Amino acid sequence: MRRSGRPPHLILRLALTLMASVVVLRAQPTRLDLVIRNARVIDGTGSPWFRSDIGILGDAIVAMARRIDTPATRTVDADNQVVAPGFVDVHVHAFGGVGQPPPVLPIVEVPTADNYVRQGVTTLITGPDGFSPVPLRPALELAEKTGITPNLGAFIGHGSIRTAVFGSVNRAPTASELERMRTLTRDGMRDGALGLSTGLFYVPATFSTTDEIVELAKVAGAMGGIHISHMRDEELGVEASVRETIAIGELGGLPTHVTHHKVIGKASWGKSVDTLRLIDEARQRGVDVTLDVYPYPASSTNISAALMPSWAQEGTRDDILKRLRDPVMRDRIARETVRIILEGRGGGDAHNVMISRCDWNPSLAGQRLDDVAAGRGKSRSVEDAADTAFWLVENGDCGGIYFAIGEEDIQRVLRHPASMVASDGQVVLFGRASPHPRSYGTFVRVLGRYVRDLKVLTLEDAIRKISSYPAQRIELTDRGVLREGMKADLVMFDPATVRDMATFEQPHQYPQGISVVVVNGQVAFENGAMTAARPGRILYGPGRTP
Ligand SMILES: [Zn+2]
Repeated sequence: MRRSGRPPHLILRLALTLMASVVVLRAQPTRLDLVIRNARVIDGTGSPWFRSDIGILGDAIVAMARRIDTPATRTVDADNQVVAPGFVDVHVHAFGGVGQPPPVLPIVEVPTADNYVRQGVTTLITGPDGFSPVPLRPALELAEKTGITPNLGAFIGHGSIRTAVFGSVNRAPTASELERMRTLTRDGMRDGALGLSTGLFYVPATFSTTDEIVELAKVAGAMGGIHISHMRDEELGVEASVRETIAIGELGGLPTHVTHHKVIGKASWGKSVDTLRLIDEARQRGVDVTLDVYPYPASSTNISAALMPSWAQEGTRDDILKRLRDPVMRDRIARETVRIILEGRGGGDAHNVMISRCDWNPSLAGQRLDDVAAGRGKSRSVEDAADTAFWLVENGDCGGIYFAIGEEDIQRVLRHPASMVASDGQVVLFGRASPHPRSYGTFVRVLGRYVRDLKVLTLEDAIRKISSYPAQRIELTDRGVLREGMKADLVMFDPATVRDMATFEQPHQYPQGISVVVVNGQVAFENGAMTAARPGRILYGPGRTP
C-alpha cells in the first residue's frame, strides 16, 4: 500500500494514540528519582506559600501536587519545612577578586563552593566589578572540566579588557584600541558571558568616560547581554554615579544594574532616598534598571583600592611604589587617604578598617588598622593609620573590611521593589584568612535577621529577591521558580531557626537552619554535610558560539 493511500482516520488514530502516550508520560512517569513530601512551598514568584509534594526526575521538576504517589528511588520528608528555589547570586568572586585573576581560580581550588551551597545558593554568577579572565572561555571550560557543585555563569569585565588592550593608564583609548576593546567584548559574549560588568571605582576603569562604556555596552546589548556596575562613586557622588549607570543602559540599549548598592561614609548616609528615586524615575520612563544589595554595614576590597586616591594607583605596582617612596608625593597621597578614612570608606576612624587577608603576613588578618599601626610602634592617629595603610601596600597589599554603611540605607534598599540580594562574596577555603562574613551568610542573614527578626521583608518577598528575580535579571528562564518543567535546584530550610553564624570576628562559620540543597536534581548538601555530588553546570549567555 502506498503511504498516501492510508485511510485518514487511521492516521488520526495513530496521532491521537501518540499524543495520549505523551500526555501520560508527562503527567505520570512510572518512577521518580526523588520526591519531597510535606513541604511548605515558596515558589519564588512572591506568591504566598502552599503545601505541595515535589517530584524530580533527572535534573528537572516533573510533578508538583498536594500528593504524589508515584514510586520514587528516594523520598525526603520536609516535615513542614519550607522548600524554595535554590538561591541565585549575581555577584560572586569565583574567578578572583579585584585585579588580575589569581593563578588558581577560587572555584577551581574549591569546586564545591561550600560557603555558598550551605547557604542554599545553587547558582553563582561571577566576573563582577569589571574584572574577569580575558578571554573568558578557558576559565569557564576549566570550571566545567573540574566538576563544580553549584551552577556557574560569568560576565566579561570592562576593566580587564581595558588593561589587556592598553594597560593601567589614565587616558582614553585610541580609535584602534577602542575597536580592540569592542572585539574583546564580542569575544567574551561569544565565550558565553551574560553581559558586561564594569567597576568604574577601580583603576584603570575609573579613567574611562561614560562614552567608552556605552560603546562596549552596545556590543554586549546587541548580543543579548546586560550591564552590571560597581559604580564610580558610592560616597558623596553616589547620585551622579546612579545617573551614569542609568545612562549606560539608555545609551547602550540594554538592561542596566547597580550592584551592591550602598552609600559609604556617614556624610552620605540617607542618600539612598535620592538614589532610589532616580531609579524609580528611570524605570517610569522605560529604562530597565535594577539593583542588588548585601545585608551588612561594611564593605570589602583591597586596602590600596579603598584608601588610596585613584591617581596614586595608576600604572604598574612599581609605579605605585615609586610614588610612595617620593616624600612629597607620599605626603600628597597621605592627605587624601586621611580624608578617605575620616569622611569616606574609613568610617571616620581607623578602627573601622579591618584587615581581611594579607598573603605576605597572614597573622594580620582580623586586625584593625589602628591596632596594626600600634603594633608598628606608631600612634592610633589617622595620620599614622594612613602611613600604615601605605606600609601594607608596600609589602604586597592586603584585603580590608570597612565599617561605613548605615543600617537605614540597607533596609531602605532591601525594601525597594527593584532590588534583589547578592553577596559580593568570594568562594573561600574554609579557615583561610578573615573574609567578609557575606561570603558565608548573606542569604541566610536576609531570611533570619531581615525577615524573621526585623520583619523588613515577608519571607515570600525575600525568597523572590534571591531566586526568581535574579534569575530573571540574567534571563535564566529555566531556574529560580519551583514549577513543573523547571530545573530542580532547590533548598529546604526551617524559617524558625535559619540564621547566619559568620561574624566579622569569626567569619568561618556555616549557617544554621538549612537542611537540604539540591542542584540539577542531585542532593548536594544534607545532614549538615556536603555530599560527593558535583552537579553544577556552566550557564552560558545568549551570544555564545561553541
Ligand atoms: Zn564591587
